[in-house]
Amino acid sequence: MFEISYDFISIGEVLTYLKKENITNVEERAKYIQDFIDQAKESTGNPYAFDRYLENGASTFMNVVTEDSGTKKECILWCVNHYLSLNRNTNVIEKACSALRQFGTGCGTSASSCGMSSLHKEIEKKVAKLVGKEKAILFPTGFTANLGSISYIVGKRDLIIFDRECHSSIINGIRLSEAKWISFKHNNVADLETKLNKYRSLYENIFVVVESAYSMSGDLSPLKEITSLKKSFDFYLYVDEAHTFGIYGEKGQGYCYAQGVTDEVDFIMSTLSKATASIGGFFASKQKYCSLLKWSDSYVFQACITPADAAVILASLDEIENDSLIIKELHAKNQYMRDLLISKGFNLGDSKSPIIPIFIEDHNKLRMAVNELYQKGIYSTPIVFPAVKVNEGRIRLILNYAHTKEQIDYTVKVLEKVCRKYQVI
Ligand code: PMP
Repeated sequence: MFEISYDFISIGEVLTYLKKENITNVEERAKYIQDFIDQAKESTGNPYAFDRYLENGASTFMNVVTEDSGTKKECILWCVNHYLSLNRNTNVIEKACSALRQFGTGCGTSASSCGMSSLHKEIEKKVAKLVGKEKAILFPTGFTANLGSISYIVGKRDLIIFDRECHSSIINGIRLSEAKWISFKHNNVADLETKLNKYRSLYENIFVVVESAYSMSGDLSPLKEITSLKKSFDFYLYVDEAHTFGIYGEKGQGYCYAQGVTDEVDFIMSTLSKATASIGGFFASKQKYCSLLKWSDSYVFQACITPADAAVILASLDEIENDSLIIKELHAKNQYMRDLLISKGFNLGDSKSPIIPIFIEDHNKLRMAVNELYQKGIYSTPIVFPAVKVNEGRIRLILNYAHTKEQIDYTVKVLEKVCRKYQVI
């Protein structure tokens, strides 16, 4: 019915095209996507087909990446956010197994209808104390923690000013809210200040929303400068610590703590699916704001994480607390890998966290590079729109504690060879 003649290289290009051409019909959109996926699968190993998965889950050693076609490949994995590799920690696994035996499988309902167990409550107490807030409430995912908290905490006479690189869960929370919103240039405090100056008197409250570390660029937020704007302007500050909770601060307290700005940050949110190797998210603040957010849809109408998931979070927090070296070693490896990449001529932008971006704007070269890396046993997904802007592209290497020096050396060696071949360094 719909003839598609345009040659797309990446899924990002398909999505952009649909938007640009104002193609809204479900049948037409589905055909574009399906045709693209089918073509991508046919053209040998196009990573944009996104049909790869891990046969036995993410592990600290070699991972077997499998394609829908049944092809298997042993790879070093660079696309998982288990920063501390606690997903394979034996103490953590043991505690999850015993929680499963003691508490059973699912919770069957949401927190507001008594879905939580003592394990869930312990998490709320522990994370609140850790990030330095009076109270924390546990949501079933990081995504819905942002969605529920942001959409519910703002009112219709308020303005949200958010960093342009904020995560989709933040953007969707903003869209769902009744407030007005504008963005400021990424990590640009001067632009934020200009906007506060222009809009502060026009709204009842202003909420500034940022991430402590940005998931696609790996750069850190200038939190000290942002909080110092509070001396001149009255606003609430919301910080998403998804990529810093558990790995910044000597006990994983997060980046607000590490920067010494906890008291100036009104709301701290984080996912529990990354450093703590489970699932879930939390919102931490004063008791009264937590009481309010217990009425957000994400909290009331969503089942709680399972007791085994909860046990994983608690056990992971114990591991972080008891092993004083685990965080230090992650950052030492991060520095080692960054120095090595820079010495080979890579431009790592402003990134600093264990998320290391390799910028390749040409989607065709990106496809070929990712595919060649895969053939050589290095696995990472290509990052294109909508994860980054339309004309951008990158390979994102997410460093985990269990990556060995040999794996890092091999990856950098192959990456350099491949990127030189495609003239992207
Ligand atoms: N915030 C940020 C900054 C994220 O990167 C993510 C996940 N990538 C989330 C929130 C959502 O967390 P989750 O996937 O655990 O729901």
